Amino acid sequence: MLNIRFEKTTTPKPIPGAENPLTFGTIFTDHMFVMDYATGKGWHDARIVPYAPISLDPSAMVFHYGQEMFEGLKAYKTEDGKTLLFRPDKNIERANNTNKRICIPEISESDFLDAIKAIVKEEEAWIPTKPGTSLYIRPFIIATDPYLGVRPSDTYQLIIILSPVGAYYKEGLDPVKIWIEDEYVRAVKGGLGEAKTGANYVASLASQVKAHKEGYSQVLWLDGVHRKYIEEVGAMNIFFKINGTIITPMLNGSILPGVTRNSAIQLCKHWGLPVEERQVSVEELIDAAKTGALEEVFGTGTAAVISPVGELRFEDDIMKISDGGIGEISQKLYDTITGIQLGKIKDEFGWTVEVN
Ligand SMILES: *Cc1c(COP(=O)(O)O)cnc(C)c1O
Repeated sequence: MLNIRFEKTTTPKPIPGAENPLTFGTIFTDHMFVMDYATGKGWHDARIVPYAPISLDPSAMVFHYGQEMFEGLKAYKTEDGKTLLFRPDKNIERANNTNKRICIPEISESDFLDAIKAIVKEEEAWIPTKPGTSLYIRPFIIATDPYLGVRPSDTYQLIIILSPVGAYYKEGLDPVKIWIEDEYVRAVKGGLGEAKTGANYVASLASQVKAHKEGYSQVLWLDGVHRKYIEEVGAMNIFFKINGTIITPMLNGSILPGVTRNSAIQLCKHWGLPVEERQVSVEELIDAAKTGALEEVFGTGTAAVISPVGELRFEDDIMKISDGGIGEISQKLYDTITGIQLGKIKDEFGWTVEVN
């Protein structure tokens, strides 16, 4: 059991009521979890303290060379008052894979889970209950050595903050329009694409701005070598239903291995649908759209769970999907995954973990 010191806030904030429409990532709870690392000492001084700005040396390495990782998962309140996490073991395993890739010291899986459970337990009253809402959990680690040379830091901080959230996209489960990027690339095999780190996001901003200007809400990335194969959307993995087969790009070293992606694959297989993890070229999509074989497109990610895609654009080709509506599999996956997360559907896969 991780030994955690508590310091309660003396100025609790009002918890947003059910009448309050929640957006994504703007409100934070009263407390945060913090733990330090120093070479020779390991991870130490786990504490839950009032949510507040942190103080860092301006030369702290994270500001200069981006040695930073993050995770994202959610806590849900069931109708009978239980608090559930969804597959936290997968996030923790991925966190340590990211850590290895960017030379951040790994964290004991059980300590990490204890930390998440402790802060969620402390802030349980902040978990919203309206349909489509949840408590978003954002663990992140930053390199804190005050030093301008390039090397892995000797000191780090793990911080976990919590945010009550509503739908990730303002569209909710309404279909989004997606821009297939032909100018910039996000990641290449051997780079950082399979690590959950801010660097992948800063690489995406210029094309996100361009897509927004054109009236598209998200960017779909092509591979960085051939500029031809589909990789993933900004913060989501992507799935296609072509002639009845569910297809998603295989994990090739430059795609983030999403927990929701993995859950969607397992569910589709469980339902007896043919599922293929393989290369998908943009030409294949354009052809499938032309013949009517492209039946559904959806993104998967913790924030939005399932995000149906109503339109894809690549250069001058505009592909309209599912007549702009929500596809059958998208809806079924959304209902099933959120049903399991909320404890309404039997969790046959052992995905939920109770916080008590
Ligand atoms: C987090 C993330 C995803 C989605 O992963 P989930 O575990 O399903 O939330 C997909 N792509 C990128 C780049 C991400 O950072």
